[in-house]
Parts: sequence; C-alpha cells; structure tokens
Amino acid sequence: MTVIDLESYEDALATYDPVMGLEVHVELGTRTKMFCGCSTELKQDANSQTCPVCLGLPGALPVVNEIGVESAIKIGLALNCEIAEWCRFARKNYFYPDMPKNFQTSQYDEPIAFDGYLDVQLEDGEIFRVQIERAHMEEDTGKSTHVGGATGRIHGASHSLLDYNRAGIPLIEIVTKPIEGAGARAPEVAKAYVAELRELIKALGVSEARMEMGQMRCDVNLSLRPNGTETFGTRSETKNVNSLRSVERAARFEIQRHAAVLNSGGTIVQETRHFHEEDGSTTAGRIKDNAEDYRYFPEPDLVPVAPSRDWVEELRKGLPELPRLRRKRLKEEWGVNEHDMQSILNAGAVDLIVATTDAGAPSDQARKWWMGELARNANETGRSLDELPVTPAQVARVAELVAAGDLNDKLARQVLEGVLAGEGDPDTVVEKRGLKVVSDEGALGTAVDEAIAANAAIADKIRGGKVAAAGALVGAVMKATRGQADAARVRELILEKLGVEG
Ligand code: ADP
Ligand code: MG
Ligand code: ZN
Repeated sequence: MTVIDLESYEDALATYDPVMGLEVHVELGTRTKMFCGCSTELKQDANSQTCPVCLGLPGALPVVNEIGVESAIKIGLALNCEIAEWCRFARKNYFYPDMPKNFQTSQYDEPIAFDGYLDVQLEDGEIFRVQIERAHMEEDTGKSTHVGGATGRIHGASHSLLDYNRAGIPLIEIVTKPIEGAGARAPEVAKAYVAELRELIKALGVSEARMEMGQMRCDVNLSLRPNGTETFGTRSETKNVNSLRSVERAARFEIQRHAAVLNSGGTIVQETRHFHEEDGSTTAGRIKDNAEDYRYFPEPDLVPVAPSRDWVEELRKGLPELPRLRRKRLKEEWGVNEHDMQSILNAGAVDLIVATTDAGAPSDQARKWWMGELARNANETGRSLDELPVTPAQVARVAELVAAGDLNDKLARQVLEGVLAGEGDPDTVVEKRGLKVVSDEGALGTAVDEAIAANAAIADKIRGGKVAAAGALVGAVMKATRGQADAARVRELILEKLGVEG
C-alpha cells in the first residue's frame, strides 16, 4: 500500500481555502421501480424482481412512476428550489454490466428542481446556508458480486454475478453549488448538511434514508485554492461515502492530502477516490477529466414531465414542519438549553420523547427516562434507543405511575428494567415483582416507629430542632421497606411523630 503524504490540518488551512461540492443520492421508498411495475423489495431471490423494462430488453417501454415524481417535487420544495414547469429525462450512455440498457435514465440539463438552499445548524448553533444546484430523478443500477478474488473487488475475481433487482429503483440526486466560505469548518459543514438532508428526507416520508443500508450515499467533491484567491482548484470526488462521520472524515482527509500535494509542487488530478472506513483515508479511483462524455440525449421513450402548478402548490401546502424548525420549537416547548437539545438529538431521542409526551407523559419525565435509565441501558447493550424493547407508551405509563405516587424513581427504574428484560408491560412488571410503593399508612407508621426506636440519638437531635438529621431516619425506613416507601411521605411521618414542623 502506498503511503499518502498529508499536511497537518492547521497548516493546510493556514495556506488554503477549501471548496466543496456534495452530491447525495437518495433511494426513494416507492413500492415499485421508477419506470416499471417491479417491486422494490430487495430481500428476494436475485433477479426475481425484474421485467423487460428494467432488464433493458429490446422494445420494452418505460412508464414514469408518479410517486417518484411527487417525491422529487417534495424534496425540491423542501430545499427551497424552483420546480420545473416542463422537463425531460435523458439517457446517460455508458457500458457497465450492472446496467443492462447500456444507459442510465437520468436527467441532464433539465432537472425537476433547481436553485434552492438548505440551512444547516453547526454544533455551536451557527446557521450555515448551503446553496442547492439541482435535484434530479434517475434510477439505480443492478448489483455485481465479484467472486473468487480475495477482496470482493473485481481484480483477481474469476467471475461476477449480477442481480438486477436494484436496477430501476428510483433515486433522487441532490447536488450542491460549490460550498465556499466554510474554511476550517468545511468538514463539519459537510456532515451537518448531510445530517440535515437526511432528517428532511425522513420527515418528508419519501425514504428512510438509512445510510448504513445504502439508501442514502454521498460523493464528496473537494478542492483547495490559496487563501484570498477566487479561482477554484482542481477537485477530487470521493465516491459513495455512507455515514455522517465518514463524510466529515473524507473531507478532512482530502484537505490534508490536497495541501500536501500542492505544497510539494505537485498538481491535483481530477479523479474519483474510494473512501476507506478503517483508517479514514482515500485512494485513487478513475481519472475523470472534463472530456468525460456520456453523450447525453433526451430520452425518446418517455413523455416530458410537466407538473401542473396546482399540483406543486398542493404538495407545498402538505409539506411537514421542517426538521430544524421542529427542533427549535421542541427546544422551546421543553425548556431545554442548546447543549441538552444537542444531546437529545445525538441520542436519537427526539421522536421517542415526542411519542412519550403524545402518550400522556410530561416532557420532563419523558426526557428524564429516555436520556437517563434507557440511554444507559442502550449504551451498555450497544443498541440505539429505538432498538430497545420498550415503547413510548410504556415509558409514559411508568411516568404516570410515578406521578400517581404508586412508584418512586427507584422502583420506576426497576420497572423499566423488567420491561427491557421482556417481563411484560409496566403494570405486569409491577405486579410480578411486587414493586408498589408502600402506601399503607399502618405499615409505614410501624416502620417509622421502629426506625425511631432503633435510632434514639438521632431522634433526639431532630426533636431538638435539627430537622436535617431526618434524612438518616428516612434512609432507615427506605431500607426496611426495600425502597418501596414514598420517601416524602416517610419524612412527613417522622417529623409528625417527633412533633417537629417540616
Ligand atoms: P460530476 O457529474 O462530474 O460529478 P456535478 O456537477 O454533478 O459533476 O457535481 C460536481 C459537484 O462538485 C457539485 O456539487 C459542484 O458544486 C462541485 N464542484 C464543482 N467544481 C468544484 C471545485 N473545483 N471544487 C469543489 N467542488 C466543486
Ligand atoms: Mg459526481
Ligand atoms: Zn421491471
């Protein structure tokens, strides 16, 4: 493996100004493919979800998926884009075995959406506006599996297998204008942009946008120019980066690599690069000079797409609250600070907390359990919060039992533990484990009397006015009742029996 020279990040930024371009592919969650009625369900036998259209057989005629167009318009609107009144598909011609038509149906100079922007929030709360060049519709390719080589790559393979189930699945490609002015924060902006875009896509309900499943992938274009200059440098294009963290790392690595090349008097070649998860590096792919020519031409087999203004306006009206504004609203409603809101976001707890409050819990209770006990369990067991076997309704029920005085915090934690262990609903766990707060005044009174008798010296102090000493007696009662007493009530009883005012 060749060693790649890197400049230190600080030195690179002291000399150069990074310019980025992000191309994000989103696989739509439509039931059928973009130009035929084949199912998009991938968990099927290879090549079972295919037909003459997506196999590119001669004479087969494609038909546009209306939901695909609708999704593209929704994405365009949410990105503040203009929506074309009339646009066409285009053939992007090239040969590759995973694309049986020998061209990809895409859009070229007539994208369905163009000239928009997306505001993204950086970690310190600053808003950075990313300009959008266009969002266009296209289709995915099939999947090749190279067999016989050591690495799963084509080199050294004895043969390749092709599965066309993915061929023709609708994709929306969203391309930014060159992102300038981010300086040292360019990698952070790249990550925040992809994160915000992913939230947006999910909120629109057009895709689950799961990066780890390839439903959303990002190409990171990056170039450097000397500080204070205007002309863009030559860019590299790191392909198919498929996690938020990797987007940030890829941008960072390329800044350091470009700087090292430029500082040593070398030139950057315009090429694609592969990103390596293991060490965050990139290596050269194919040279991509501007002579690259796909011989695009308008697709003659598909009618132009001309969305009526009425339809577009109807879709605009139906747009959900945008994620950034929703977060802002929730932050205010919950009365949390920026830092806590960020933790809630990072924990993936926003929707769970909302669902828990929708199920009747006060928001502070919902936050407390999801960000406390449940987050700890998720951490310990290496799961995300939404993978825990507990529902927002169950958490709301626990909160309700606490509010009613049936459970104290300690018991509530045990109830959640039982739910997570698969012992059933909160009420079932309470029943099975016998976790009710002892509210039987007679039993509590006896426990308090016993504690006073066993701790005469402390009791005397309290009688003498040292109310703070009551804590020790409360502790004794709680211990005697195995934590099942209501501590506030126990304290009241102790003070009452010793004849002092709380
Ligand atoms: P291609 O098809 O070659 O990938 P695109 O126009 O689809 O070209 O995407 C190129 C992306 O890179 C866009 O986001 C664009 O804004 C950005 N870009 C173009 N030139 C540069 C440059 N010199 N440095 C950084 N980014 C660039
Ligand atoms: Mg590209
Ligand atoms: Zn098909």
